Amino acid sequence: MAAITHSVEALTFPRTRATDALEDAFAAILENVDENPEREGLMETPKRAAKAMRFLTQGYSQSLDEIVNGALFSSDNEDMVTVRNIEFYSLCEHHMLPFIGRCHIAYLPRGTVLGLSKLARIVDFHARRLQIQENLTKQIATTMDDILAPQGVAVHMSAVHLCMMMRGVEKQSSDTTTTSFLGAFRESSELRMEFNQQVSSAASGTARF
Ligand code: ZN
Repeated sequence: MAAITHSVEALTFPRTRATDALEDAFAAILENVDENPEREGLMETPKRAAKAMRFLTQGYSQSLDEIVNGALFSSDNEDMVTVRNIEFYSLCEHHMLPFIGRCHIAYLPRGTVLGLSKLARIVDFHARRLQIQENLTKQIATTMDDILAPQGVAVHMSAVHLCMMMRGVEKQSSDTTTTSFLGAFRESSELRMEFNQQVSSAASGTARF
């Protein structure tokens, strides 16, 4: 810790343009992995990396009200609505390395439906933070439940984790599947089966992850 603090101070001085703490932190990373932050290819890297990190964690600065933004519509259709293959990109909270995958969401409306694109935005709202897949899955289900008060919600996520592929156990072909079932999906194995069939037919038609 002391070394990083020292490096931030050391680097803040020679840089002439206005900067911020996140850029300084990335500059400190460069120095602490024994790179030369002054070499040509890295001159703008702290700035670019800070911008990228802000994008990848933008969920922290968003609000669900803005995301839903009135896209709730009354409907007397009470049958299952499923949106499949929502791709997502998140960062694991243990290593800050990406995990990348697909999310499938189903719900049984109870008088209200949500604009379909909003489901993808809810996934991004929770994914663009530091996460673990288990919590991410539950948070998406709970948000759907809070917004729609449906009869039930089902969420299935499968992802590859770069912290397992690039480091640690270095397993290239494993993926991780998580599910969250609320309401009617929790109570009915038939509903879960119907959802799982939709998920497996979606997965067979798309590239892995
Ligand atoms: Zn990790």
